[in-house]
Amino acid sequence: MSVVKISKKTATSGPTDSTNPFEAMIERLNEAARVIKLDENVYQVMKNPSRQIVVSLPIQMDDGSIRVFEGYRIIHSTALGPSKGGIRYSMDVNPEEVKALAAWMTFKCAIAGIPYGGAKGGITCDPRSMSKGELERLTRAYTAAMSDIFGVDKDIPAPDMNTGPQEMAWIVDEYSKIKGGFTPGIVTGKPLFLGGSLGRVEATGRGVVVSALQAMEKLKLDPKKCTAVVQGFGNVGSITALHFQQAGLKVIGISDHTGAFYNEKGIDLQKAVAHRDKHKGVLKGFKGGKLITNEQLLTLKADVLAPCAMENQIRAATNADKIKAKLIVEGANGPTTARADEILTKKGITVVPDVLANGGGVTVSYFEWVQNRTGYYYREDEINKRADNWMKKAFDNVWETAQKHKVSLRIAAYIVALEKVEKAIKARGSY
Ligand code: NAD
Repeated sequence: MSVVKISKKTATSGPTDSTNPFEAMIERLNEAARVIKLDENVYQVMKNPSRQIVVSLPIQMDDGSIRVFEGYRIIHSTALGPSKGGIRYSMDVNPEEVKALAAWMTFKCAIAGIPYGGAKGGITCDPRSMSKGELERLTRAYTAAMSDIFGVDKDIPAPDMNTGPQEMAWIVDEYSKIKGGFTPGIVTGKPLFLGGSLGRVEATGRGVVVSALQAMEKLKLDPKKCTAVVQGFGNVGSITALHFQQAGLKVIGISDHTGAFYNEKGIDLQKAVAHRDKHKGVLKGFKGGKLITNEQLLTLKADVLAPCAMENQIRAATNADKIKAKLIVEGANGPTTARADEILTKKGITVVPDVLANGGGVTVSYFEWVQNRTGYYYREDEINKRADNWMKKAFDNVWETAQKHKVSLRIAAYIVALEKVEKAIKARGSY
C-alpha cells in the first residue's frame, strides 16, 4: 500500500486563510490523510468529485424576456450509497463552492452513519428578486435537466440555502411527470402532505444543539449558566436559537443578512421569528435588540457561538483572534477557514465542525427516504429520539477519535469519514 504523500511545502507552510471552499476542504482532507497515513489511491479518489454536471437553463421571466441561468449538480462520492445533498439558490453559487459542499456531504453522511454518498446542487440566481412563477419555472427546468442524474437509488436532492419544501414539491412533481409515476423519494425535505417527514424542518438546528450540548458536557459548561450567539436566522439559525433557549441558554445575539441584534437580557426569539415571518423572511426593523454589525456579533462575549449562515465567516484575516466564545458549533457549512481553525485551537476554543454539527438534517432526510420507500410513517417523537441518538453517537465517535489521534474535532471527523469510505472504496474495487 502506498501512503499518501502531501508535498513538503503544503505540510510545512501551515493552513491557509483561503476562502475558496474547495481548497479549504482539501486542506483538512490533507491533514486527516496525513494523520492516518491514508492509502494514496483512496486519497486521489476522495480529492476528485466523481461527476460534475453544468447546465444552462433558459427561463422565461415575467416580463417576457428570456434569462439563462447556470445550474450545477456535483456528485462527490457514491462509495457508501446513493449520493445525497441539497440544492442552493444564490448569486454566490459557483463550481468550487458546489464541489466543496458535495465533498462535505460525503464526510457528513459517513460521520452520521448514513448509507449515502455525497452530492450538492445549486443555481446561480438571486431568488429574492424573482417571482414565485419564475422560481417554479427555474426549479422545473433544473429538474428536467437533471432527471437522468437524480434517482431514488442514485442521487437524492434536498433543500439548502434559499430552497425549502415548496421547491422540493416542484421537483417531485416535475420528476414524477418525466418518469411517469409518483416518486416522492426522489427528494427529501418535502411538505408533509407529499411524503415529507415529521421533524425534518427542525432537524438541522435541533442536531446543532444536540451536538452543542454534548460538547458542553465534555467542557463542563452548564447550559443554564451560558449565553449564545447565532449568526443567520433562516431554517438552521432560527431553530438553533430556539433550541438553545429550550435547553436553558440565553441567546443574546442573532442576525441575518439585513442586520445583527444584541440584547444582554436575552432576545425574545418568538418575537424575532414572528417579525421575520411578517417581513418577507428578514429581521430588518426588529426592535428586540440593539442593532450591531456582523463583526460585532461574531466577537460578542458569549459562551457559545453558532455560525448558521454561510461560508468563510470566521477568518484569520478578519476576526478569528477576536472571537470570545468558548465553544463554536458550526450550523453552516464551511464557516471557518483552515488558518482560523488553527488560531481558534491556540486560543483553546473548541469547534464542533460542520460535518458533524449540522448532520441532523441529512439524518432525518434519510429517515424521510426510508419512510417513502417502506410506506410506513413514524411519529415526530420517534423521529426526534432516533435523530438525537444518532447525533450523540456521531459526536462521541468523533470525540474519541480526536482523543486517540490528539487532533481537533474537525480533523477527527474527517478521519472517521475517511476510514469508513476507504473500506467501501477498497471492498468495491475499481476498473
Ligand atoms: P436559509 O436560506 O434558510 O437561511 C440562511 C440565513 O443566513 C438567512 O437568515 C440569511 O439572511 C442569513 N445570511 C445570509 N448571509 C448572511 C450574512 N452575510 N450574515 C448574516 N446572515 C446571513 O438557509 P439554511 O438552510 O438555514 O442554511 C444555512 C447554512 O446551513 C448553509 O451553510 C447551509 O448549507 C447549512 N445547512 C443547512 C441545512 C438545512 O437542512 N437547511 C443542513 C445542513 C447545513
